[in-house]
Amino acid sequence: VPVSRIRNFSIIAHIDHGKSTLADRLLQDTGTVAQREMKEQFLDSMDLERERGITIKLQAARMDYTAKDGNQYVLNLIDTPGHVDFSYEVSRSLAACEGALLVVDASQGVEAQTLANVYLALENNLEIIPVLNKIDLPGAEPDRVKEEIEEIIGLDCSDAILASAKEGIGINEILESIVKLVPPPEDTVSQKLRALIFDSYYDSYRGVIVYFRVMDGTLKKGDRIRLMASKKEYEIDEIGILCPTQKPVDELHAGEVGYVAAAIKAVEDARVGDTITLAKDAAEEPLPGYKEAKPMVFCGLFPTDSDQFPDLREALDKLKLNDSALSYEPETSTAMGFGFRCGFLGLLHMEIVQERLEREYNLDLIVTSPSVVYQVTTLKGEVLMIDNPTNLPEPNLREKIEEPYVRVEMITPEEYVGTLMDLGQTRRGDFKDMKYLTLGRTTLVYEVPLAEVVTDFFDQMKSRSRGYASMEYHLIGYRANPLVKLDLMINADPVDSLSMIVHRDKAYGVGRSMVEKLKELIPRHQFKVPLQAAIGSKIIASEHIPALRKDVLAKCYGGDISRKKKLLAKQAKGKKRMKSLGSVDVPQEAFMAVLRLN
Ligand code: GDP
Ligand code: MG
Repeated sequence: VPVSRIRNFSIIAHIDHGKSTLADRLLQDTGTVAQREMKEQFLDSMDLERERGITIKLQAARMDYTAKDGNQYVLNLIDTPGHVDFSYEVSRSLAACEGALLVVDASQGVEAQTLANVYLALENNLEIIPVLNKIDLPGAEPDRVKEEIEEIIGLDCSDAILASAKEGIGINEILESIVKLVPPPEDTVSQKLRALIFDSYYDSYRGVIVYFRVMDGTLKKGDRIRLMASKKEYEIDEIGILCPTQKPVDELHAGEVGYVAAAIKAVEDARVGDTITLAKDAAEEPLPGYKEAKPMVFCGLFPTDSDQFPDLREALDKLKLNDSALSYEPETSTAMGFGFRCGFLGLLHMEIVQERLEREYNLDLIVTSPSVVYQVTTLKGEVLMIDNPTNLPEPNLREKIEEPYVRVEMITPEEYVGTLMDLGQTRRGDFKDMKYLTLGRTTLVYEVPLAEVVTDFFDQMKSRSRGYASMEYHLIGYRANPLVKLDLMINADPVDSLSMIVHRDKAYGVGRSMVEKLKELIPRHQFKVPLQAAIGSKIIASEHIPALRKDVLAKCYGGDISRKKKLLAKQAKGKKRMKSLGSVDVPQEAFMAVLRLN
């Protein structure tokens, strides 16, 4: 196809506004995927994604479309992940496009994620086509939502498309608009090869499969490629297009989207944002925008059964092949034994990895509460990055501690402004801005320590607004604060995995709530178990779990055996996620207690 007939676009939307449903429709209406082959939501293929209804990994689909002008066009849809943890990947897939469909639920309106995605699209100079989806719903208010988009985003909505992805309304109009409004790629086929990687995944038979957009030049089967950031070189085994299943071709030119297989061993060697060029005739400059993955949230992972340590290592090694953002190194805890300190892009990324380790690798893990990375300047002037509270230098060795801050943007119906401002305040947020949007909707902007966001900020925001508010955040930098290390003792033994770094003014409150929570979560033992919170050598809160008096089976005295069995089975199940610390059995929940304090 001539480059003038190619259109590369993506769909940006807030979660649940209908991105996947619309993508499915487009594939169906262009005959790319026959209706009977259509699994629900073809593009979201990972199980976890489907369960959570979010797109984690992006993929692409090439559609042939004969437009009203009689010409045949190639439309490449590049899907984007739908979560703030993966915004770097979103920005790289947008960089591979010339346009984007902005899908907004006409019964809801602009949400935080809509805005965050629009900013990324604008940074990449994309042509944005507004689509008001779900107009079939009785509660749809397309005129109000148009006004909202114009006001908040400043995008002309006079030609916004009214659509229902579910009912198939407006789909032709969308396809025609893509052809008419999204500019074709520039014709740079005579330049040296540069292709932008926007996704990659590990396949155990063929090695890493790399998805890319050719920005300049031509890539052919058999070419020897160089990845400009990782500096690795490979011979291409297979090159092809995505229909949306892989279909080999001989070559791809500037403007086209496709995949290569080249026996690449781990996605780390061909990361999102890296530039593919030819080994022999390399481009001088890589494409702009490449960034190293920077883990923002850390936690300890320990097998409940220490015999599983080698299995945990093997599982992490395997996951890493497919996840360049995951980082981990062995950690030895006096309380927990051998495990790993792992770094993640954010909380969702952390949950996904944990869940996969447990489901796919059958591991029983104790996960310690998430921590951010603190920047500590010592009196000697050294700057240390501390991702584990246990490693915080003693107060008499520190000059200052700085912690990461994020800018949080919430969009909410007016009636919840008060309670959300209260949330911002209690999470040590600095209020920055408040704007009234249309019809009683408001944006609130706070600068908040990331540590306060990675606990349960999102859940709190949702429950305080009865699910109506939405939020996004991004890192803005480090700021110094009076922070202290809070330690916890169970049965007089300090438990390093429960140590945390907190603001001085909050330490007493957190210490008290922590011992109360632990009292609730740790089961009774045959002996009394004291619980204490301390800063340095100073105990700031204490509690104890009273000793168990009766044998639980006593209840079944003389009773029937099946009831006894049931009770034992129930106990065994409850025991599964326990870690023995000395003589005390501590359940998984206790290590996450900090996430459940009010
Ligand atoms: P995504 O999170 O943006 O990918 O949203 P989905 O495509 O998964 O859609 C979220 C929910 O909205 C699903 O239950 C869809 O069936 C529903 N949905 C999507 N488009 C429409 C529409 O046009 N009308 C109605 N009534 N529901 C829709
Ligand atoms: Mg989706």
